[in-house]
Amino acid sequence: MLTSRAVPGVGPGKDAHRRHLGALLRHVHLRGPASRTELADRMGLNRSTIMALTAELTSAGLVREELPDQTGRAGRPSLVVRPESDRVFVLAFDVAVDRLVAARVGLGGTILDRREAVRPRAGADLDSVVEVLAGLGRRVAGTAGPGSVCVGVGASYCGMIRPGDGMVRFGPDMGWVDQAFGAELGRRLGLGLPVPVGNEGHLGALAEYERGAGVGFPNLIYLHGDVGVGGGIIVGGKLLNGDGGYGCELGHMLVNPYNGRPCGCGSRGCLEAEVGERALLDAARRPADLTGRDAVRAVVDAADRGDPLARAALDHIGDWLGIGVANLINLFNPGLVVFGGMLRDVYRGSATQVRTRLTANVLAVSRERVLLRTSALGDDATLIGAAELAFAPLLADPTGEHSGGRHPAEAGTAR
Ligand SMILES: [Zn+2]
Repeated sequence: MLTSRAVPGVGPGKDAHRRHLGALLRHVHLRGPASRTELADRMGLNRSTIMALTAELTSAGLVREELPDQTGRAGRPSLVVRPESDRVFVLAFDVAVDRLVAARVGLGGTILDRREAVRPRAGADLDSVVEVLAGLGRRVAGTAGPGSVCVGVGASYCGMIRPGDGMVRFGPDMGWVDQAFGAELGRRLGLGLPVPVGNEGHLGALAEYERGAGVGFPNLIYLHGDVGVGGGIIVGGKLLNGDGGYGCELGHMLVNPYNGRPCGCGSRGCLEAEVGERALLDAARRPADLTGRDAVRAVVDAADRGDPLARAALDHIGDWLGIGVANLINLFNPGLVVFGGMLRDVYRGSATQVRTRLTANVLAVSRERVLLRTSALGDDATLIGAAELAFAPLLADPTGEHSGGRHPAEAGTAR
């Protein structure tokens, strides 16, 4: 049985206090358990303030304090503050090209339960997608222990999303235009919680920045490959959204307008048309009906074994990828470029070609420090990004008036 979060509000004029509460909770959520002393040092607050903040978060059921494992040090040990990972959770959803995923993610970022269903690549309507996701969501929430509380829901979608209401403005691979995905998933879950939705590239970028390969890199570029290519750009620790929230469509950066391959967006020679799954499989002369991550991996593995056709295909794709990345480095001077989704495999198989292109085309001073890495969160980067979207209101105001939702079992099967 879930309980809703019955915690006192902090009242008006307490913005600094609320920020400190949020900062402390965010710290243990992202960086793991920490002693009061460590928290005081890292947050620049004195220990009595940390103690008071921790007491408030403890009474709200969000953290608990424990004695640390003794290491033979003399003196009174500083208590360790831990997030209540088993008790406080969010539901995270991921709509990718090949699969639908739901997970229960505990405060602290641990994936506690995860279920997925295969999604056929042919178009699927809003109703059927939401029905599958809501069913998976109920199953992962149903394994939560007594007293657990769902504090938020978030979803990642492979398309262009209107911020604020989770409207899919354009979902090219499903043919969705203006579909009220977030609202419909929220209604079907029946938890009384809104369902914010983010673009998969944006969420992957945020997840890698907060928990993955990008920790410590406030200026980074994340490129996410699925069938197409998306991405996110973090500047000064913030995602570059653009005017309407539709920024960072890195896959539609024009790299080959005259002789380029046709792109799903209707243009020609976009980066995703030149480096996406189809481009690689065609370059390796694989059958036209062959698709999917395993097929991409098979080309990379074949190139590793010395297959000349696969090697030539990866050199060709790697050159286009290098051209795209060179443009991005010249424009944004990132400290790190992260390759996620199927681009992990493509980059693994074409790193030499990519780097050759960067040497030829990136301004020397922008090239001095930039690092190239593959995603540390792997296939769960976008799902973890969706979970962070769901945790955001709690972290902004940990003891605010907003309460947790109902348990999915209590919500019945709202339709
Ligand atoms: Zn395009």
